[in-house]
Amino acid sequence: MSVALDPALIEAVTRFAALPRVLVALDFDGTLAPEVDVPDEARALPEAHEAIRDLAAAPNTVVALVSGRSLDSLARAGRVPSSVPLVGSHGLEVRLAVDDVRPAATPADRARVDALRAVIAPLVEMVDGAWIERKPAGFAVHTRTVDPPSARALTETVREAARRADPDLTVRDGKNLIEFAVRDATKGDGLAVLREEFRPDAVLFAGDDVTDEDALAMLTHDDLGIKVGAAPTVASHRVSDPQGMSDVLRLLASLRAEPAQGGSAHP
Ligand SMILES: [Mg+2]
Repeated sequence: MSVALDPALIEAVTRFAALPRVLVALDFDGTLAPEVDVPDEARALPEAHEAIRDLAAAPNTVVALVSGRSLDSLARAGRVPSSVPLVGSHGLEVRLAVDDVRPAATPADRARVDALRAVIAPLVEMVDGAWIERKPAGFAVHTRTVDPPSARALTETVREAARRADPDLTVRDGKNLIEFAVRDATKGDGLAVLREEFRPDAVLFAGDDVTDEDALAMLTHDDLGIKVGAAPTVASHRVSDPQGMSDVLRLLASLRAEPAQGGSAHP
C-alpha cells in the first residue's frame, strides 16, 4: 500500500463490507486509472483492476463502472469482466449485462438529432478544420484546428441556429467545442438505474471529478462516498489518488471474499 488509509475510512469500509448486499460504483479516469494524454491508453492500476475482479466474483457484491466516457470507450479502457455493469456518457448509456444494453437514444431522439444535424452540418462544412463528432444523444462541433476568430464566429452561429431549430436542446460549451444533446443525464441518474436494478443495502461511490458530485450527492445513510483528490466535495471520505483508491478496493475485496475458499479473509 502507498500511504496508510485514514482510520475513519478503514472503519467506514469495514462497516460497509459487513452489510449483506452491496453495490460498488466507481468512476474510471482519475479514480482507478491515472490521467493520461491519450484517453484510449488509460488503464486502471493493476491493484485496482485485481480488486475489481475479486469484488465481481464476491457473493452479494455488484461492482460497476460509472464514467463520462461512451460505453464503447469505457468497455475498451476498463477491461473489466463482462459481468461488470457499465454506465457511460454520464448516465446516458447503461450496460447492465452483456445482453442488456440500454441505448442512450430512442428512434424519436435519433430523428431529432438527425433533423438538427441537417441544419448545423452545412454551417460547419463552410469552416476549414471544423468537424462534427457523433455523440450518444446528439453531436459536438469541434473547432480546435480552426483559427480563433472563425472558431468563435462558428460557435455562435451554430448556437443560434440550433436554438432556433430546437429550443429544448441541452447545449454545453467545452474546450474548443460546442455540444448539442436531445437528452441529458448525470452520473446520479446512472447510479439511480444501478440502485433500482440491483437493490443493494448500501452503495459505495467513488470519483474524482465535478460530475461525480451528482452521484455522491445522492448517497444516503448507509452509503459510502469517497472523493479521489483534493477538490471540494460532498463526500464524507477522501483518498489522495488512484493508488489510495486501489488500497480501499483491496481492503473491501478482502472483506467481501468468500471465507470458505481457503485464503485468509483478512487484509
Ligand atoms: Mg474521473
